[in-house]
Amino acid sequence: MFELFKIGFLTVTFLDVVDIFIVAFIVYKLYTILRGTIAAQIFIGLIIIFIFSFAAQAIQLKALNSLLKLITDIWVIAFIILFQPEIRRLLVILARNPVVKIFGKHELHESAEIIVDAAFELSQRQYGALIVIIRETGIRSYVETGEILNAKLSKSLITSIFFPKSSLHDGAVIVKGNIVEAARCTLPLSASTQIDSENLGMRHRAGLGISEQADVISVIVSEETGSISVAENGILTSGLSKDSLRKKLKEAFITPTPKSWKTLFEQFKGEK
Ligand code: ATP
Ligand code: MG
Repeated sequence: MFELFKIGFLTVTFLDVVDIFIVAFIVYKLYTILRGTIAAQIFIGLIIIFIFSFAAQAIQLKALNSLLKLITDIWVIAFIILFQPEIRRLLVILARNPVVKIFGKHELHESAEIIVDAAFELSQRQYGALIVIIRETGIRSYVETGEILNAKLSKSLITSIFFPKSSLHDGAVIVKGNIVEAARCTLPLSASTQIDSENLGMRHRAGLGISEQADVISVIVSEETGSISVAENGILTSGLSKDSLRKKLKEAFITPTPKSWKTLFEQFKGEK
């Protein structure tokens, strides 16, 4: 079909050319995404094995071919295991779907306002706080590490939870829509221990860690400095003003995430 030319015994068709272009494009794109990471080296190794195995198949070296196939299989599994967090994050981004469907817009605006007000009050009093806002998929396993509350969100509820003498003040509060699901939750710590040569304490690492693993926004109030940070998609932004916190929460909470491939790639790259 659509035969173009022949090289010896090889017949090249139009479809073959298209096929090669598509594969080359995918390989090139993957390489540009992974460039500069350990994944790139593993990826190059995988490509080399693929080329060998293709050649071995073409000239019908059966034993070598099956050996190479075995190595490729192992390599693919190793790739998945080694990059499990990255793959997971990519899936989280792909599956992202705003909370808007479950909660009305009005409710979410109100929740954002309540959290902003509570965070600023806590910051003024220099009480430490960690509030995780679930965007869509729940994080049940982390909710269950704490004390389940299922209480209606309010400013005084949040500020009294983080009052240092309160028995619920330790750990994180998890909020979904206008419900405080739990308090005193233990979150996964981020592997980053420093950002811009500033040491990150446990509270900040926990807020960042959960944002790397799940589709959430964490609001962190520092006990040491009173400063307010937000972690989203594995990126921590510190020293927020009231307006910028409000803007961030409303954006993250209410505006549906654009799903173009370009933004997906950028988000994924930004999350390394
Ligand atoms: P701050 O600026 O408020 O001091 P920090 O980032 O320096 O914050 P630490 O001083 O280490 O953090 O804060 C310790 C508090 O962080 C603990 O009291 C606890 O409430 C919280 N915390 C520590 N680890 C976790 C975790 N894995 N999950 C949730 N919260 C945690
Ligand atoms: Mg500290």
